[in-house]
Amino acid sequence: MSVLSVRNLSIDYIGAKTVFHAVKDVSFDIAPGEFFGLAGESGCGKSTIAFAISRLHRPPALIRTGSHILVDGRDVLELDDAELRSFRWREVAMVFQSAMNSLNPVLTIEDQFYDVLNTHTGMSRSAARERAAELLGLVDIPTDRLSAYPHQLSGGMRQRIVIAICLALKPKLIIMDEPTTALDVVVQREILQRIHKLRQELGFSVLFITHDLALMVQVSDRIGIMLEGELVEVNDAQTIYRSPSHDYTRKLWASMPRLHGEQIAQDAK
Ligand code: ADP
Ligand code: MG
Repeated sequence: MSVLSVRNLSIDYIGAKTVFHAVKDVSFDIAPGEFFGLAGESGCGKSTIAFAISRLHRPPALIRTGSHILVDGRDVLELDDAELRSFRWREVAMVFQSAMNSLNPVLTIEDQFYDVLNTHTGMSRSAARERAAELLGLVDIPTDRLSAYPHQLSGGMRQRIVIAICLALKPKLIIMDEPTTALDVVVQREILQRIHKLRQELGFSVLFITHDLALMVQVSDRIGIMLEGELVEVNDAQTIYRSPSHDYTRKLWASMPRLHGEQIAQDAK
């Protein structure tokens, strides 16, 4: 069974006088352990889909009736508040575009782990500290950083900590919406390789969103290409790179810097 099954998802932004169709009848599946990329130019609806799957969408976004988002077979659009609380972090965790700034500035790293672990599992302080140290290890951060405040850490480190917090409750699906855009290329690459490896070790699935198709081909199993709210092509990463079936995918490639593209081809092998 798919971990995520998006069926006929349509989302509008309701204005005072206008309705903007941001997502139009989108359907796709993500298998257990799969790394699925969603690419397309800025404004094509990628984040709108990510927020809907996490049930974090707010007005003026309105999901149209007839849309279904199944996580492990359960429609997240039908969850009530109590169900939603256990759904978030446990089933699906999301790393936002500005995630490295989403840590609470007045709490130590240890406290931020404790918050999530204690709220969701009632874990004690000392057990949470132990688990936090273990999670930091997964993203290659020394345990002594537990007592640090976010501003004492680099952007790349903060981003890896957010990812470690997302792993805390062993979700089935992690959604990453442009998680590394604000980081330099080397750090970006390191973080993606790390996620790739963790996914193999821990078995979660990833929905990875970026406008950078070249980067995406390196890390994804399959890729969906969006154009103005529609999902126009879904294929395995190599096909998207070597012989895309949609004109728009070819156009996207043509807009990427060539050298980068060649580099990717070698890395993807
Ligand atoms: P992407 O993540 O692919 O860059 P988004 O999902 O953020 O795109 O946005 C898709 C479209 O919806 C864009 O045209 C954007 O302007 C519009 N949009 C996003 N958020 C809102 C909002 N709160 N109100 C109105 N329109 C919005
Ligand atoms: Mg976005």
